[in-house]
Amino acid sequence: MQQELTGSHAAALNHRPPRLAALWYTTLGWAVLPMSRTHDGECRCPKGSACPCAGPHPLVPTGPGAPTTNSATVRAWWATWPWAQVGVATGAPSALLVLETSHDHDPELPPTWTMSAGTRSWRFYHHPPTRGLPRPALPDACTVHGEGRVVMVPPALIDGARARWLPGPQQLATLPTPAR
Ligand SMILES: [Zn+2]
Repeated sequence: MQQELTGSHAAALNHRPPRLAALWYTTLGWAVLPMSRTHDGECRCPKGSACPCAGPHPLVPTGPGAPTTNSATVRAWWATWPWAQVGVATGAPSALLVLETSHDHDPELPPTWTMSAGTRSWRFYHHPPTRGLPRPALPDACTVHGEGRVVMVPPALIDGARARWLPGPQQLATLPTPAR
């Protein structure tokens, strides 16, 4: 599926209300979850100041099938928590593999959708290879967000800084299948 991420479109997505951003991500086939955030040092989830994981954790149970592309579910979640940040389940639920490196590192990856996460990291979004991870081809600095993980996407706050998409190519790159 082709989606623009160029110029004004990336900028608009970076500042879209979370509910609209979440719905837009589902049109990519990305499975989303509503994520908590802190306010004045307290988690905004129902546990409030007693929350042991204050910050961006899922607001719904996270069993298999919880991350969703269903627009009615997404609308209901953000009607309940309009302030919730948008998390995207990586791995099979969204057919996504996200590589993360520090800002001062150039991983020499194929051009793809790129996000600035917090003040220190780039995240590079890819379709996963069809078989295994091209681990030997990845730079040492990469953190891999794959099966069972959730990444925050704009308009999220990550480490106190606004996550933002960089204007870039229209399509996600597909990581190559490693040679055998
Ligand atoms: Zn919490």
